[in-house]
Amino acid sequence: MGILIGGRDVGVATDVGRVRDHNEDSVLAGGRIFAVADGMGGHAAGEVASGIAVRSLGELADATGQGDLRPEDLLDRLAAANRSLLESAAANRERAGMGTTVAGVAVVTVDGTDRWAAFNVGDSRVYRWGGGNLTRVSTDHSEVQELIDAGLISEQEAAVHPLRNVITRSLGTDPAPVPDLWVLPPVSGDRFLICSDGLTNELSDAEIAAVLQREEEPQAVADALVRAALEAGGRDNVTVVVLTGTILP
Ligand code: CA
Repeated sequence: MGILIGGRDVGVATDVGRVRDHNEDSVLAGGRIFAVADGMGGHAAGEVASGIAVRSLGELADATGQGDLRPEDLLDRLAAANRSLLESAAANRERAGMGTTVAGVAVVTVDGTDRWAAFNVGDSRVYRWGGGNLTRVSTDHSEVQELIDAGLISEQEAAVHPLRNVITRSLGTDPAPVPDLWVLPPVSGDRFLICSDGLTNELSDAEIAAVLQREEEPQAVADALVRAALEAGGRDNVTVVVLTGTILP
């Protein structure tokens, strides 16, 4: 079984937002790996951090080409990106303490058949849209997610909680953070959405689902989601990748 992704199967949109003066999100959309990274750190270090993360994954996509990409290759590459971030921060004072989230989807090969692999570190998210339903694939590595999991606060309370921007895992930390990774069977017609928290802090899952219901083409979905986040306030950089794939028997 194979998964084919053509140019029209991928939509990408990003915007600095209506409050921030530069965009610290970085995006990768090409080959077999698709990712969004949301950087943090002063003096433009945020975009350096997110750029290192997506460039590192992009090199892996280039290196494997149409060959087999294994789930463990993704984990090795994220560990390498973490080391690059630490080295860059150690060599440049202005980059001390920089870090980045990363979330993404890749086409991996397991036992000779293609599968989707979704991965994340931090609070950028991967969603899956299929059969008219939006499901969160990734789990945020954040203080508020831990409070939700412990039954202490609700999703609604998390949205306005003072700790809502505190993440518990990021690339750029020592010891290396452990990414979450899921291997998923391909289902015809499924779409994936990868996004930074600039989208999910402005739009509820129901509002995101309404856009996916309305728009079909991946680029139209990506544009509409970013536009909706800006209309809802645009308080942060917002980045969206939407992709689908043709399932071959
Ligand atoms: Ca952000």
